[in-house]
Amino acid sequence: MSVEHADLACETCGRVTEHELHYAGRLLESTRCTVCGTRVEVTARAMVPAYLRDLEQRVVSKPRRMIRRAARDPVGYARSLPRAVLRQPVKFWREFWSLVRR
Ligand SMILES: [Zn+2]
Repeated sequence: MSVEHADLACETCGRVTEHELHYAGRLLESTRCTVCGTRVEVTARAMVPAYLRDLEQRVVSKPRRMIRRAARDPVGYARSLPRAVLRQPVKFWREFWSLVRR
């Protein structure tokens, strides 16, 4: 998870304020107004397929059917992965679980 900052219009403040942009990988997960604290989340339902499409582009060797299965049943998919795949970088799993566990 990485955080960047940008000036965005806040509906609660009614003006442009500094916002924290929380990213899972390269995808925006949520925004938070640094003035009033209003947090806007991108829903998991919208995020998981988008994240998996992004991941598919990053890991081009991964078969498409695995990605589709993961989108349908992320938890069952993760449990069924062979040990070798589970040795993927910790960063990947942090990103993945931060999306699934909501
Ligand atoms: Zn605000």
